[in-house]
Amino acid sequence: MQVNLRRYGVYLLRWQASTPLLAGVGILLAGMGQVIAAVVANLIGGLIFFWVDRFIFTSQTLAAQWEVREHIVCVDCGTVSRGYRLVRTDNYDRTNDSRPEFRCETCSLRKTEELRRRGIKIE
Ligand SMILES: [Zn+2]
Repeated sequence: MQVNLRRYGVYLLRWQASTPLLAGVGILLAGMGQVIAAVVANLIGGLIFFWVDRFIFTSQTLAAQWEVREHIVCVDCGTVSRGYRLVRTDNYDRTNDSRPEFRCETCSLRKTEELRRRGIKIE
């Protein structure tokens, strides 16, 4: 499994954001007893963080976008295989490339390293 570190970081921050909310509700409702306060706090947390978590796990702004196609001819070595192409990251955009270049897995890894050295942000 590959973990997107940016997603993971945002997710950890989101847990920190839920701390004061749950603590605050716990204090406000302390008179109702700890169990009820915890139930209400978790209900409120769930109502809010369902949407936050959904954004975290589906947001394209947190991900580098790749296009994968079967049976392409690698532009570097000519191998016919599954091909990869980096479409977009924070500071790289080939969304409307009129002649998209696909590469086999090996060449794609090498090209990714090259792009990183040129300062393109890829997880
Ligand atoms: Zn290749």
